[in-house]
Amino acid sequence: MTTTADVVVIGGGVIGASIAWYLAEQQQRTVLIEKNVPGQEASAAAAGILAVASGRARNGPLYRLKHASQALYPALVRELEERTGIDIEYQTVGVLDLIRTDADEEKYRQLYELRREQGYPATWLSADEVRRLEPSLTREIRGAVHFSGDHHLHNGKLAEAWIKAGEQRGVTVHTGSTVNEIRISAGRVTTVRVGDEWISANTVVIAAGSWSREVGEMFGLMIPVEPAKGQMLAIRATNVRHVLSWHDHYLVPRKNGDVVVGSTVEFVGHNKDVTLETIHSLIARSLDLIPALHSAPLSHFWSGLRPFSPTRRPILCRAPGLENVIIATGHHRNGIVLAPMTGKLICELITTGQPSMSLEPFALPREPLPPLPEGESPDEAD
Ligand SMILES: Cc1cc2nc3c(=O)[nH]c(=O)nc-3n(C[C@H](O)[C@H](O)[C@H](O)COP(=O)(O)OP(=O)(O)OC[C@H]3O[C@@H](n4cnc5c(N)ncnc54)[C@H](O)[C@@H]3O)c2cc1C
Repeated sequence: MTTTADVVVIGGGVIGASIAWYLAEQQQRTVLIEKNVPGQEASAAAAGILAVASGRARNGPLYRLKHASQALYPALVRELEERTGIDIEYQTVGVLDLIRTDADEEKYRQLYELRREQGYPATWLSADEVRRLEPSLTREIRGAVHFSGDHHLHNGKLAEAWIKAGEQRGVTVHTGSTVNEIRISAGRVTTVRVGDEWISANTVVIAAGSWSREVGEMFGLMIPVEPAKGQMLAIRATNVRHVLSWHDHYLVPRKNGDVVVGSTVEFVGHNKDVTLETIHSLIARSLDLIPALHSAPLSHFWSGLRPFSPTRRPILCRAPGLENVIIATGHHRNGIVLAPMTGKLICELITTGQPSMSLEPFALPREPLPPLPEGESPDEAD
């Protein structure tokens, strides 16, 4: 059997869901293919922090993409919630970046000043002021910067709502399906096979998260994305009100009384084991910040595989040598905050050929990348 679509999207995480959502708004007949259950991989595993002011990207292309994406969220959340009745738990308490050392103080002084210049709400808090906001915090704290414009949400519910609302707009979702064969003619992919069905498509989008390299190989493409495992746990606690962040450790309060604690960045392939050593270390770091958590019940633990790109930015571009294939992956630690703008830009690229923001900084690297300058974060560009 052969069916016809304007666009086939491979991968049903938040990136694929967002692309399909914007395409359906433009009346594109869109088929989304997900090998398991949509939204259950990295998109469900995340902490759900929409970190822009509190994020590491300072003022370059990645920062601008995050800024634009964050701005789409309020209206998007409203619309998804209205259509689906799912509470996405979009919360407005902000992120507290904690200051405990001289080095923290220097780092956050610079970030605080930059964000104020950029017009973000940012407040420099003394130790007493932080503890007024978070009374259970350790006394060994010098202060914090409160980035009150950085929201957080329940990413699992976001993915669920996005898929459901996309279906309402006309997206066809194939669950438990993989593309196992493709046909190419004159530099274009003409059809893809899913089970016994052939789908003829004008455009194919690869949005398969940390599996994008493997999917790319089927198209003869080299997409240099690697899985970067993050282990997480949740505890039951009511004494954390804001997102608390110190170095790479964070605590994120959810509406149901869970506090999500994360995380690690591990390059161990597609291995999702959760280890005692890591859980132990996440617990120790949490107790170091909030000693009163020692009696909090453990709720659950999990891990997820972030799509890491060596460019340290997402890869959003046409595939070299295949004019109707588009790559949208490599969002690593920022896929939740970047999903709305990614979907919008990829939709514009497909429907008008002219995205409203340049995608040049998000091209596939042509050559191996040089080593990073000293002091730059290995996992996020500017
Ligand atoms: C522990 C952790 C914490 C995080 N915290 C945050 C955060 O606070 N804020 C933030 O912005 N980001 C965060 N992230 C990052 C964010 O979760 C990811 O960047 C984002 O979910 C990537 O979305 P995706 O759709 O590309 O990938 P995924 O959600 O992994 O989706 C890819 C989908 O493709 C499917 N697929 C794979 N191969 C095929 C195939 N052959 N055929 C069909 N389907 C296929 C998979 O089954 C999967 O469902 C975090 C990630 C982790 C792991």
